[in-house]
Amino acid sequence: MKINPNNFIWSIVNLLRKAEIELPEDVKSALIRAETIEENQVAKSQLQAILKNIELAKNHGIPMCQDTGIMIFFVELGTEFHPGFDLEAAIKEAVILATAEIPLRPNAVNPLTRQNSGDNTGIGIPDINWKLVPGNQLKITAAPKGAGSENMSALHMFNPKEIEHIPNFVLETVVNAGGMPCPPLMIGVGIGGSFDAAARLAKEALLEPLYTPMNSFEEEILEAVNALGIGCMGLGGSITALAVHVKTAYCHTASLPVAINIQCWANRHASVVFGGEE
Ligand code: SF4
Repeated sequence: MKINPNNFIWSIVNLLRKAEIELPEDVKSALIRAETIEENQVAKSQLQAILKNIELAKNHGIPMCQDTGIMIFFVELGTEFHPGFDLEAAIKEAVILATAEIPLRPNAVNPLTRQNSGDNTGIGIPDINWKLVPGNQLKITAAPKGAGSENMSALHMFNPKEIEHIPNFVLETVVNAGGMPCPPLMIGVGIGGSFDAAARLAKEALLEPLYTPMNSFEEEILEAVNALGIGCMGLGGSITALAVHVKTAYCHTASLPVAINIQCWANRHASVVFGGEE
């Protein structure tokens, strides 16, 4: 399957535009539901402000938050999909264009000198996660991530016999975060794999649709998180998180890596699919 590189680049610019401006329906619905059931009046007013913010961003075509995030992509590349050009270079080009066009805040800096590239690119950025899948389609998900919630994330290499400490690790991470990651949160938990794989699992868990039923382990953690009373924007209330999603992978018999990726209410992501027909 061949695609025009220029059309591809503009599709990715538009994908980023959608991700930055329009919150996915499942996230929006969960926020609407939270506003309906929250009884704390301060938290309720904050949820109303968030919903108004979402509406204004969509109506005016502007990003929903001033922190437009660091550019992260998840790519599922069909083994029979052959675009005929350098996909990675094209995605990078799209990020540069999107930064100027949407516009996006230039957030990418050298980690040591703190020098800003000015266009949201640099070594390792955009962060593109490749997965080879069967078939002749290419699916790209853009998931820009703000620093406020990313900075509150955590990873710990547990001793395997400490498995029952995992829920407490989530609670401690949420308590330490307080209002800083702009709750209500979505909490991605990665258990297993290796040091880095656990973090990737936690991030992937944030892409799970919020209508995906939680298992009893996830439900129990969510209930405990909401019992903390941190509430919307940390101002108190019964809804600190909207969902907890856990993803697992087999790990070394002597290891138990656990990563927690905290996501603010602005759980931005959007996907596009290329190809698929003969
Ligand atoms: S944590 Fe989320 S909502 Fe808060 S400033 Fe950062 S990106 Fe925006």
